[in-house]
Amino acid sequence: MLTDNFARRINYLRISITDRCNLRCRYCMPDEGIALISHDEVLTYEEILRVVRLFGQLGIDKIRLTGGEPLARKGALDLIRGISEIREIGDLSLTTNGVLLGEFAADLVRTGIRRINVSLDTLSPEKFAYITRRDRFPEVRTGIEKALDVGLFPVKLNVVAIKGFNDDEILQFAQLTLDKPVTVRFIEFMPTAGVDFWSRDHVLTVDTIRKQIGKLGPLIPVDGDERDGPAARFRLKGGAGELGLISPISSCFCEHCNRLRLTPDGRLRACLFSDNEIDLRFHLRNHCTDEKLKDLLATALQNKPQRHTIETSLFKKCQRNMAAIGG
Ligand code: SAM
Repeated sequence: MLTDNFARRINYLRISITDRCNLRCRYCMPDEGIALISHDEVLTYEEILRVVRLFGQLGIDKIRLTGGEPLARKGALDLIRGISEIREIGDLSLTTNGVLLGEFAADLVRTGIRRINVSLDTLSPEKFAYITRRDRFPEVRTGIEKALDVGLFPVKLNVVAIKGFNDDEILQFAQLTLDKPVTVRFIEFMPTAGVDFWSRDHVLTVDTIRKQIGKLGPLIPVDGDERDGPAARFRLKGGAGELGLISPISSCFCEHCNRLRLTPDGRLRACLFSDNEIDLRFHLRNHCTDEKLKDLLATALQNKPQRHTIETSLFKKCQRNMAAIGG
């Protein structure tokens, strides 16, 4: 079992397999994109698999692939197949913007993905084109339908709640869970590198969201399990799906953090909001031993901060863009 200095059990690795993305969400990336990591600096699938195999033996049993847009990286299905063959990994999932999901959904199931998160911040095609700077709403809608058709479960829709942008759609999103077996999760808007879109005034807290959804009826708590991570889970009476509220800003949940992150260029990152990273790629490419990788993992765990400082004056945005961390 892996633990950090604050006795948190760490069993979850999020792997950003590319920093390339086919959308340009205003809260995530500048219009012109970000300075991309060159292809030869990006970890190969063999390198990722070596890390996952070893970390799996040490206590990581949950992997999420993210990006950038993970489905935009060539051969992503080969990586998924490879990870799903690693016995220690009991839970393999993917976070996608949904643009390519219609094309990939059936193959994702075939290669070992059981559940999926789709990021979708609005149900309006026009607002979608505004927030993502790309007119791809129809593909995303088709992708979500396809994911449900092929039996991915649960299909979670992640909505970044932004005051002045989608606060008028909270009820519409929540209503989706009445008819469809989807989980709609509202995530408080976080400050991230490389974009100036964030301000405290744009943060819609989960308390406000909960009050709005309350207009549809009482929110019935659903028992969480470890797979749900930081979300407080609810159901509306008679609802086919679920609701989740994730509050990185208004109530810090770092105490329960079980995550590490691996960036596309092979940096092991112990906290979303700390640029303290460990360069695994250098060692992987210099034929390091498994013992060396274990030492590097131990160092990452030792350096994992106790908590983020977003709500304090100490907070500084991190240097690395969200697309190169993976959210
Ligand atoms: N392309 C994939 C997607 O769209 O899900 C994976 C990468 S994306 C960086 C991962 C997640 O980070 C998405 O759910 C996105 O909404 C979230 N995210 C990015 N910037 C954010 C911010 N400033 N606040 C909250 N969530 C953010």
